[in-house]
Amino acid sequence: MTTDIQHSHIGARADEAFRLRRSTRPRENGELARVLGDPKFGEHFTDHMVLIDYSEPGGWCDARVVPYGPLTLDPASAVLHYGQEVFEGLKVYRHADGHLRTFRPEINARRFALSAARLALPELPESLFIESIRQLAQADAGWVPHQSGASLYVRPFLIATEAFLGVRPSRQATYGVIASPAGSYFADADEGISLWLSRDYSRAGLGGTGAAKCGGNYAASLLAQQQAHAHGCAQVLFTDASTRTWVEEAGSMNIFFAFSDQTIVTPPLTGTILAGVTRDSVLRLARDMGYRAVERPVSIDEWQTAAVTGELREVFAAGTAAVITPIAELVGDDLLIETPGGGTESIAARLRAELTSIQYGTSHDRYAWMLDLGPVDS
Ligand SMILES: *Cc1c(COP(=O)(O)O)cnc(C)c1O
Repeated sequence: MTTDIQHSHIGARADEAFRLRRSTRPRENGELARVLGDPKFGEHFTDHMVLIDYSEPGGWCDARVVPYGPLTLDPASAVLHYGQEVFEGLKVYRHADGHLRTFRPEINARRFALSAARLALPELPESLFIESIRQLAQADAGWVPHQSGASLYVRPFLIATEAFLGVRPSRQATYGVIASPAGSYFADADEGISLWLSRDYSRAGLGGTGAAKCGGNYAASLLAQQQAHAHGCAQVLFTDASTRTWVEEAGSMNIFFAFSDQTIVTPPLTGTILAGVTRDSVLRLARDMGYRAVERPVSIDEWQTAAVTGELREVFAAGTAAVITPIAELVGDDLLIETPGGGTESIAARLRAELTSIQYGTSHDRYAWMLDLGPVDS
């Protein structure tokens, strides 16, 4: 067998690798319509899922689309003890021409491989990653919402499955993809959300896993997130772990500052920040909208001072799930910085409109960001 795909039982043609076993009990039309009418976020899952196994020395094998359901894991599986896991998040959109499309999936595929490498997990070939998205989107095409602003959120993940309690990288892994129809991530985000400045906890340190999209980062952030909620805030503002001076991320989103001199600033990718696809896209769109888009460190002090002088016009967060969300205030133990922003004329709103019009296919895809996943019979 030819193997462009390294270390693999799966041949060079990723599209021929998958077998499909259809669900015998797909959700009934009435229930599906009810779910799609108000999808919320991450609450309902489609009828199918993708699974691909990995083992040494064989490599990737048995790519399949099967009915959605529980996984069987040996209780000694490495993921359950040492947290060897990475994941991704991207969306599938239904366009007016009857095609399903997804947004810049090659970046997610590359990031997934980088995250896996950081967690000493096997790297899934890019072509298999993208084909797995296409396979699931086609199998569950009826689950992609029609209404603008809604989409099918797709969640690829990779877990270490070797049953062995010694501490070393697992020699077996399972890749999976599940999908969930998604509406709006934050209930009332138009006015902007509040962030809680955590003085107790950090998300990522130098040499750690901050640049990898792994469950461990999230596990470590949940207590801070709980404190944020207790203070009436939607998300945590994480600063650098060593000095707690520099702004890093807003919960699970990248953060942007818009200044009155037409400059848009986001912190640089120095290893502790996740390189968001939305972040990269916002930088590009902002430049083409005539802003100076700059990657440089921003301190809490600068945020506070610039908010008071009025030089700071808006703060917003960017990520696939919530797209672009204004940040109305930063709250801390002895701190309150207000950056009202918001409104349809805001920079955040204009960037959001530019981005979503490309994603939902209502404006020309001038950067060739959308990947066609094929037509569906509606
Ligand atoms: C996924 C994620 C983001 C946003 O990345 P996108 O590719 O834009 O969705 C930002 N920060 C963290 C910590 C993330 O996990």
